Order: sequence, then structure tokens, then C-alpha cells
Amino acid sequence: MAKIFCIANQKGGVGKTTTTVNLAAGLAKVGQRVLMVDLDPQGNATMGSGVDKRKLELSVYDVLLESATVKEACVQSPKLVEAGCGYDVLAANRELAGAEVEMVSLERREKRLKTALAAVDADYDFVLIDCPPSLSMLTLNGLCCAHGVIVPMQCEYFALEGLADLVNTIKQVHANLNKDLAIIGLLRVMFDPRITLQQQVSEQLKARFGDKVFDTMIPRNVRLAEAPSYGVPGVVFDPASKGAQAFVTFAQEMVDRIKKM
Ligand code: ADP
Ligand code: MG
Repeated sequence: MAKIFCIANQKGGVGKTTTTVNLAAGLAKVGQRVLMVDLDPQGNATMGSGVDKRKLELSVYDVLLESATVKEACVQSPKLVEAGCGYDVLAANRELAGAEVEMVSLERREKRLKTALAAVDADYDFVLIDCPPSLSMLTLNGLCCAHGVIVPMQCEYFALEGLADLVNTIKQVHANLNKDLAIIGLLRVMFDPRITLQQQVSEQLKARFGDKVFDTMIPRNVRLAEAPSYGVPGVVFDPASKGAQAFVTFAQEMVDRIKKM
């Protein structure tokens, strides 16, 4: 049975997409079967997984509108497969922004992705969903089918403030739509231990959220930022870099955590 995780945070630019593609590649590298679902119309996770969003025949849009199955719509990047980090991609592009509007009049519109993923449950160990930076119908579709939420966050002053909104949202979805949903963990990303404020916020996070804070920290590392322009995750682009190594360690931490779930 696949474990499904949303990578979510209402803020943009906090590292959701970087986390999604590198965790996907890291999990594949340690032998897990992974499906990555891009739920952001910007299609960054699609491009960052080596799939050209301008040339899609089918995408997550078709799946949400039930004109294609996940099996029919998902694709793989040969580059990632060659590197031993291959995973399936349910891709997205601008078209997905329209799904939001088109789904308004549909029945059980927030459960569309859940229904679609049920058909491939046996094919994967992990499904990772890259969410857009908003609490839209798209994000709701992700939260409705997930077992947990991974929240990437930078250890900055306002990070804690934004977190309260996200925690409330997750509580509401848990109460009304998805009893399985829980925050699996907070992932400290773009971390720079030389910055005192970051250390302080990191300590506050641990004091307040305890073991919900992942042990692994993702350092700020330029190789992770460079990788998308080559159409691969950092884990594939430069496996020896600190950022790539941190994501492989994080993948192993996730594998260990789900054994306890
Ligand atoms: P989001 O999906 O939340 O909008 P992204 O993953 O696209 O955020 O990250 C925002 C920017 O920060 C991107 O340019 C990305 O390359 C860069 N970035 C993300 N994580 C790191 C990191 N650990 N080190 C350096 N740059 C990073
Ligand atoms: Mg993103």
C-alpha cells in the first residue's frame, strides 16, 4: 500500500518543489517505488523531474477531470532512470489552473485525486504531491488523499506565524474530510547554521513541535538551486553535494518513519 504525502506550505519560495523532487529521487535511490504528483500549475516539479511541461499529452489535469487514469497519464524521465533515481511523474502545466474552475460544479470535487490514486495504490511505496502555494481546490485534493503533510520551512522569524495557518487548515481537513491526515513533520530547509536567528528559530521549533521536527536538516546549497535548469533533481545533478546528501538522508528518515506509522 502506498503512503501518500503532501509537501505543503501556503508560502511561495519556501522549498516545496525542491523538497518534492529531491525526496522523490532520494527515495528512488534507496529502492522505493515513487510517484510524484505535480499539483502546481507552474509545473516546476514537472520540469525539475526532467519532463517538459510544454509537450505533455496527458497530465494531472486530465486525471482530475476523469478523462485519463493515473497509469495512462504518468511519464518518466530517462535521465533519472539512467541515474538509478527514476520515478513516475504525474505532470502539470498551465492547463491545471483551469481545472480549479471546471471542478467547481462537479460532485465530490475535493476527492478526485484520491479516487484516481486508489487505482495505483499497489504500484508504489510513496506518492509525493507538490502543492501550490495556496489553499485552493487543488491543495484540498492533495490533502484529502494524503496520510500526512511534510512542511518545508525556513528558520526565519515569520515562518512560525505562517505555520499556525497551515496547522489550522490541516486540523479542519482532518475533522471534515480526511481522518488519516496528520502533520508528519517539519523539514528545516535552506538552513545556514552560521546564522544565529536560524539556530534560534530551529530551537523554538523543536521546543514547540518536538519529534514532529525531522532530524535531517537541508542546508542552503547552490547545487540544489542549479539543478532545475538541467531538468534533474539535485540528488541526480550532483550526488556528492551537501544538499543532495541531505536529501538522501531525509529519504532514509522517511522510510524509517513510515515503518512506525
Ligand atoms: P516553492 O516550491 O515552495 O515555491 P522552491 O522549491 O521552488 O520553492 O524553492 C524556491 C527557490 O529556492 C528556488 O530557486 C530553489 O532553487 C531555491 N532553493 C530551494 N531549496 C534550496 C536550498 N536548500 N539551497 C539553495 N537554494 C534552494
Ligand atoms: Mg513550487
